[in-house]
Amino acid sequence: MITDQDRKYLKRCVALAEEGLNKGNAPFGSLLVSDGRILFEDHNRNAAGDDTRHPEFEIARWAANHLNETERSTSVVYTSGEHCSMCASAHGLAGLGRIVYASSTEQLNAWHKDLGVAPGNLKGHRVHEIIVDAEVDGPDEKLSEEVRQLQYEYHSG
Ligand SMILES: [Zn+2]
Repeated sequence: MITDQDRKYLKRCVALAEEGLNKGNAPFGSLLVSDGRILFEDHNRNAAGDDTRHPEFEIARWAANHLNETERSTSVVYTSGEHCSMCASAHGLAGLGRIVYASSTEQLNAWHKDLGVAPGNLKGHRVHEIIVDAEVDGPDEKLSEEVRQLQYEYHSG
């Protein structure tokens, strides 16, 4: 279940997605939260041509280098869009905890189809298909609409 507190962090993710979009990146933003503190945040950085520069992947790397096992497993990753299979794998390998997303992969796929965006090279697996015993919440009805608008802006831009 997404709480009001979760929604506060998800709003920050959407703001980061918009910040990324304004710099020419695909609109995705994510946060790493532990004990109510934001430890790390980032947005997608694919504008220069590297399509692996996803914020959730950066979070997994940062967490692996800065947090111990317990800290990682009890931290929460908030993100504007559900992890792709690369980021879900990194999340699982880093031993991170709960994931909360504003919009789902299913929604993103539907928007891309509507926009005529060619399907990518990934099969679009959901987080729970990648990570064992994943604790996942999302999407959020209102915030996913904001993410949809950013996606439409990026692809019709
Ligand atoms: Zn990803």
